[in-house]
Amino acid sequence: MSKLSFVIIEDDSLIADLHRTLLERAGHTVHVTLDATDGVDFITQVKPDIAVIDIMMPGMDGLEICRRLRQIPDLKNLKIIVVTSKSYTTDHDRAISMGADGVLLKPVDPLTFVNDVLAFAADDMDITYWGVRGTMPVPGPHSLRYGGNTTCVTLEMPRDQFFIFDAGSGIRRLSSHIMATRNGKLSSKVLITHPHWDHINALPFFVPLYIPGNEFEVMGPAQGATTMRELVSAQMDGTYFPITLRDLSARVFFRNLVEETLEFDGVQVSTMLLSHPGNCLGYRITMRGKVFCFVTDNELYMENAPGFQQSYVDKLVEFVGGADVLLTDATYTDEVYKSRVNWGHSCVSKVVELAHTAGVKELQLMHHDPEQTDDDIDRKLDDARSALAKLGSSVVCTAPAEGDRKRLSSGGKLTSLEPISH
Ligand SMILES: [Zn+2]
Ligand SMILES: [Zn+2]
Repeated sequence: MSKLSFVIIEDDSLIADLHRTLLERAGHTVHVTLDATDGVDFITQVKPDIAVIDIMMPGMDGLEICRRLRQIPDLKNLKIIVVTSKSYTTDHDRAISMGADGVLLKPVDPLTFVNDVLAFAADDMDITYWGVRGTMPVPGPHSLRYGGNTTCVTLEMPRDQFFIFDAGSGIRRLSSHIMATRNGKLSSKVLITHPHWDHINALPFFVPLYIPGNEFEVMGPAQGATTMRELVSAQMDGTYFPITLRDLSARVFFRNLVEETLEFDGVQVSTMLLSHPGNCLGYRITMRGKVFCFVTDNELYMENAPGFQQSYVDKLVEFVGGADVLLTDATYTDEVYKSRVNWGHSCVSKVVELAHTAGVKELQLMHHDPEQTDDDIDRKLDDARSALAKLGSSVVCTAPAEGDRKRLSSGGKLTSLEPISH
């Protein structure tokens, strides 16, 4: 684990010493101030990774310090842990609403203090790819490396925020993973881009839906008068699938989305209607300055094509602007796209242009055409990288494989984690 810098603001010198010793023993750097009135200035000067602040101090309330720190743009990556000896629930809610990342009760447990602080301060987004293919699953020898499952991706965050994007056949693999590794109840938002089969038809095979105590909110765009609930229940009406929505034991809610911005437990979810037959939504997820965009299915037309609209491109560039990760529909090579115009999907050079213009950090190619082998996907990736090089672009381009995992950390740092092997 990397070594971090801390500031402790605590008027009781014995407690301050204890906290300092515990953190220093774990290898971290610690600065202490016993004077709360000077706390905000002190933190602004030292710019630590984490501030540990007592709530009850003479001169200035710890929550007021918290509130002021959150107004300083320069400290946007600062993590704040508040320490209190008062009744947990009232202080907890007030502290979180003032921008604290976590609340610890005094006296702290010396054995767990450091880990508790670090757990609250963690704000990584873990991205896992459960299916990266488009249109239909393609099992077999030509899809062993990238995987043959259709669209499903998850985002997990430290406060147990769990987002599932699309329910293509990849969700069955996610289902097995959850059943094998997770204890306790699961509460998740399921964000559906649109109801084409490759994005919803494996939802009934997601076993956590049948576990009492689990809770899901399935969200996505209505299609005309047909609601999200109807779109999902229609494929589970007893004719196409033997189990109906009423047979699910988890609590399942549905929500129709339009172009809007919602917030769930500190995570912002914005949507935009994409260029695809029917209503299809792209998602922009923001948490503490980190941005992940999931944009599929989407057709970016060539500039001379009748379907081309500069205003749409401009809107999309803004929507994905500055994203740390843009995971997007790059179904076709430029060559094949020529005979697939108006099919609702993009070719490599157009997504490269989008990512470059929008100042995206990492462009990730997905929704690969069922005709393509692993080697074909490698070639699309090569094409994308050469196109970016030609533009002199700083955009990094990858093509995640099924089972890959990446961690997006503060400052937009993206690291690869051990892939899921089962
Ligand atoms: Zn699709
Ligand atoms: Zn589609």
